[in-house]
Amino acid sequence: MKIVHAQIYPLSIPLLEPIKMSGETVSFANTILLRLKNNLGRTGWGEASAAPLMTGETLESLLANVKFLASNLKDFNWDNPDEYGRQLGKLLYANSSAKSCVEMALLDLHTQEKGIPLWQYLRMKRGCTEASMPKPLPLLRMLGGSIEKEIADAKKFHDEGYRHWKIKVGLLSVDDDLNRAENLCNLLKGDTISVDANGAMRLEDAIRFCTSPKSRQLSFAEQLISSNLPLSDFLELKKRSEIPIGLDESVHGVKEIERFIAAGVLDGSSLKLIKTGGLLSALDCSDLLEKHGLKINLACKVAETSVSAAATAALGFAINGLPWGFSMSNQYLKFDVCDSPLRAKQGHLEYEQLGSVGLGVEPDIDILRESLTKSFPSIEC
Ligand SMILES: [Mg+2]
Repeated sequence: MKIVHAQIYPLSIPLLEPIKMSGETVSFANTILLRLKNNLGRTGWGEASAAPLMTGETLESLLANVKFLASNLKDFNWDNPDEYGRQLGKLLYANSSAKSCVEMALLDLHTQEKGIPLWQYLRMKRGCTEASMPKPLPLLRMLGGSIEKEIADAKKFHDEGYRHWKIKVGLLSVDDDLNRAENLCNLLKGDTISVDANGAMRLEDAIRFCTSPKSRQLSFAEQLISSNLPLSDFLELKKRSEIPIGLDESVHGVKEIERFIAAGVLDGSSLKLIKTGGLLSALDCSDLLEKHGLKINLACKVAETSVSAAATAALGFAINGLPWGFSMSNQYLKFDVCDSPLRAKQGHLEYEQLGSVGLGVEPDIDILRESLTKSFPSIEC
């Protein structure tokens, strides 16, 4: 397969409401969509969002690097997905989000050519039979805002079938966050409830949080301390904590996971395609975590559209279970780029919601044109 044309759409899509995290407040999805055309007339789609605090890539650098990669794709054959990582690595060092965006579009094309859905291709790579069907993915909902709003949202979305939750912490005092966590755990008893500090807590605060009776009902605490801290701090937290510890910003690939497993500092990890550099390396990460009995949370960056949601879901359908849930972030967008966006059904996403070949969703070009960021035009290469 050869690539004959690429079009890049840098988008800015407003969120339904701003999402406050300890290090940033996200009001717009700053995301890039890539459309590749192959020599057989098919179209494939990829997406990656800017995540300066997670991958070091801004919208500007992401756009420049997707453009650089897309401009050089024509020189290669793209028949073997197992070679994609090496081929992209020959063009550009690091820059995992840009590579994930390109790999997604290439895999969309490859699986369309094979006449199978992307999720099935990934499942078969994991050793599942063609006939085996995946279970619905449990969607995770973020809770934030005022305490009254958190409680109202928790009730509303629980009624809609959601059973997985994430409470963003680290902006308030440890005591305030503990009270929020306890109240929400009492309200949502029996559900899978987590907190995520995006690395904002000091080690002593994180230990106090994880040893308090008020956090005892939590299913896990994600990235309480900064990924810049030494491994000994993570070990101290894991040893002292009375609830499971998840990592997110600390984990970008297999090598880091191996290091953290050897050190015994985690009970599970959040996987995002922009961190791992794409689906195939995320599949390797999930394999490693599962082999060691560690839990997986699958997540899109806040916020990405149905394109990234479909790709991340394809990985979810290839994994044997997501006890820590799937954070599908298009649910926070004011509008999506696909005519039929992926939506929760009873708090879950089913494989039947994706199309029968490839990625299984297709953006509407008119919506893409209307959603272009004011700073950059669409780029053809
Ligand atoms: Mg996180």
